[in-house]
Amino acid sequence: MAWDFETDPEFQDALDWMDDFVRREVEPLDHVLGSPYDITNPRNIALVRPLQQQVKDRGLWACHLGPELGGQGFGQVKLALMNEILGRTRFGPVVFGCQAPDTGNAEILAHFGTPAQKKTFLEPLLANEIVSCFSMTEPQGGADPGVFTTKAELQGDEWVINGEKWFSSNARWASFLIVMAVTDPDRPTVDRMSMFIVPKDTPGVEIVRNVGFATEKEGSHAYVRYTDVRVPKDHLLGRRGEAFKVAQVRLGGGRIHHAMRTLGRVKMLFDMMCERAVSRETKGEKLGDKQMVQEKIADAWIQMEQFRLFVLRTAWRIDRYKDYMQVRKDIAAVKAEMPKVLHDIATRALYIHGSLGISSEMPFADQVLQSFHMGLADGPSEVHKVTVARQLLRGYSPSNTLFPSYHVPKLQAEAEAKFAEALEHIDDVI
Ligand SMILES: Cc1cc2nc3c(=O)[nH]c(=O)nc-3n(C[C@H](O)[C@H](O)[C@H](O)COP(=O)(O)OP(=O)(O)OC[C@H]3O[C@@H](n4cnc5c(N)ncnc54)[C@H](O)[C@@H]3O)c2cc1C
Repeated sequence: MAWDFETDPEFQDALDWMDDFVRREVEPLDHVLGSPYDITNPRNIALVRPLQQQVKDRGLWACHLGPELGGQGFGQVKLALMNEILGRTRFGPVVFGCQAPDTGNAEILAHFGTPAQKKTFLEPLLANEIVSCFSMTEPQGGADPGVFTTKAELQGDEWVINGEKWFSSNARWASFLIVMAVTDPDRPTVDRMSMFIVPKDTPGVEIVRNVGFATEKEGSHAYVRYTDVRVPKDHLLGRRGEAFKVAQVRLGGGRIHHAMRTLGRVKMLFDMMCERAVSRETKGEKLGDKQMVQEKIADAWIQMEQFRLFVLRTAWRIDRYKDYMQVRKDIAAVKAEMPKVLHDIATRALYIHGSLGISSEMPFADQVLQSFHMGLADGPSEVHKVTVARQLLRGYSPSNTLFPSYHVPKLQAEAEAKFAEALEHIDDVI
């Protein structure tokens, strides 16, 4: 029997250290610093770098990577347990060297990059000396890559890129962008595009504006225009026409890591909800003594724990099969469930806090909005549900009779025939 829901005592020690360190040193950063990706900001340098050094000294830096890339090779289950702690804070992932989208971008550079690409782009990315951007979605559509028109043409020794991308997160801080562009327009959608590494200072890369998230006036999701952007031929990442293959490696890891961090946030919201329930009184009793509040707490815990087990099992499967494609259904299901869990628990937490809950002095309304972020980024839930259903249905064969194979009269007749001989004698006795 290999089912086991326990953490190794040695790793639990590391988690306990992390939990304390994140509460004491990292969470306060969220209140005094701007973007975690603004890594050249002197305030970030002064406060974040020393913490990153402590994490490196503890051997907990960049744990999403294997040892050959400077990480610990902990695997996804341990990473899930770590991300549950880091997900509580905006700065946690950067302090531990495992922030999206750099993790996904590092993963594809590690998988598909040439030695020169790894030296120039991956090494400084892993050291958090630079940050990166993934530039795929276009203004005319994100969920359907068939409508992408940004193109790259080979002219001599250079690729020339033209087009527009939308919601390219962190482009404003990034040193390079990984851009998906059409190179072979006559081929089927899945073979039509290639991936390119584009240094941001390349002439022709223009941030039209930094679009804000929800109520932000200005944010970090760039509307980017590429006009005659020339990159050397060797800036192709992976093979020509294989952008989908490259993206899948990136998105598989990215989605499950988002889910792990989301769990951290959900747990934080749950704890807040419970503290409020045992603190606030109305009509002579604590909120937590009221059955409808108890129901909210019970429902939240049940939803959170189900999701946690689902995330951990998916992480375990990734470790076991070492191939995202084999775990595609599970990752898609986790991705589709994640926004709902965050939405439901953030909403309950908000509501239990009443007017304070909806105020800008508490994190709940922001987390409700973040649930929509989780639903959209890396593909909308509907698309992931389609993946889950298609994969599930592949395991079933159609019945070729008028009534289904499990039609009760048929099952009854079959059972009677099966046991007729054995029961004949017994029935005579009775
Ligand atoms: C916070 C945030 C950060 C992001 N960061 C990045 C980034 O760094 N790089 C990047 O390239 N992109 C990024 N994106 C874009 C993201 O990948 C797209 O928003 C997503 O793929 C959906 O594309 P769209 O917004 O164009 O919506 P559309 O494709 O127009 O879809 C709109 C809606 O239509 C419905 N829908 C779509 N397809 C189907 C379907 N097959 N079946 C049923 N219903 C469907 C869904 O309800 C969907 O929400 C980010 C998005 C967000 C919200």
